[in-house]
Amino acid sequence: VSCEGLVHIYRAEDTEVVALAGIDLQVAAGESVALLGPSGAGKSTLLSILAGVLRPSAGRLRIGAHAVESMSPAQLQRMRAAEVGVVLQGASRNLLPYLTAYDNVRFAQRAAPRGAELDAPEEVLDLLGLESFAREKFQVLTPGQRQRLAVAVAVAHSPGLLLADEPTSQLDHDAREEVLDALAQVNAVRGTTVVAVTHDPEVSERVRRTVTIRDGRVGAEGRSGEEFAVV
Ligand code: ADP
Ligand code: ADP
Repeated sequence: VSCEGLVHIYRAEDTEVVALAGIDLQVAAGESVALLGPSGAGKSTLLSILAGVLRPSAGRLRIGAHAVESMSPAQLQRMRAAEVGVVLQGASRNLLPYLTAYDNVRFAQRAAPRGAELDAPEEVLDLLGLESFAREKFQVLTPGQRQRLAVAVAVAHSPGLLLADEPTSQLDHDAREEVLDALAQVNAVRGTTVVAVTHDPEVSERVRRTVTIRDGRVGAEGRSGEEFAVV
C-alpha cells in the first residue's frame, strides 16, 4: 500500500471538512500496522479510501499493482473483490445468523471474482481456529467466535490486504485475545497485509508498526513488537 499526498474533503452545501490533509504512508506487503489517533483525526476516512469505497479528493494511492486513483468504478469494484478484505466495527452483526459458520464463509466466497483460486471453507475456518464450529449456526457462537468468523468471512476470498476498523471493540479480554490471535494468524500464515484502526493498546502492542493520524496527517510513527505476534 502506498499513499502519497492523499487528501479527502467532505463537501456539503456550504461547509467543507478536510478529513485528510495529505497522507503519506507506505505499508509493505505482509506488514501489520495499527492506525491510532484521536476521534475525528481521519482514520475511518483513510480506511474507507484504502477499501476503495471512498475516492480521495487528491493524491495517489497504489494497492499492489493498482493505481487506485485512476481506476474506473468497475475496475475499483473488481480490485476490491479480488484483493481487499474488510472487518468493520461490529462486523459480526453483518453475518447471516441462521447460517452455519461454514455457510457464512461459503456465502462470502460467492463475491470472489470468477476463476479465483479459493481455499476450501474448511481451510479458512481452520486458519481462524473455528474448524470445530463449522456446522454451528452463527447464533450459538460466543462474541469472540463471532468476530473470528467475521475475520474468516473477510479473508474467505484470500485478499492480500485486510483492513479492520476497531476489530476488538466491545469485546471482553478473552474475546479480544481470540480476535488478535486470529488476525495474527492470517498475517503470519497467509502473509496478508493487515491495517487496523484501533484504540486498543493490545492491538498496537501486537502489530509490527503503529502510525498516529492527527488532523488528517501522519504524526508519530512507532515500532512496537517484532512481528504481529502469534501467541
Ligand atoms: P476518525 O475515524 O479518526 O474518528 P473520521 O475519518 O471519521 O475520523 O473523520 C475525519 C473528519 O471528517 C471529522 O472531522 C469528521 O467529522 C469528518 N467526517 C467524517 N465523515 C464525514 C461525512 N460523511 N461527512 C462530513 N464529514 C465527515
Ligand atoms: P469513528 O469515530 O469510529 O470514525 P464517527 O463517529 O466519526 O466514527 O463516524 C461515524 C459515521 O458518521 C461515519 O459514517 C462518518 O462518515 C459519519 N460522520 C462523521 N462525522 C460526520 C459529519 N461531520 N457529517 C456527516 N457524517 C459524519
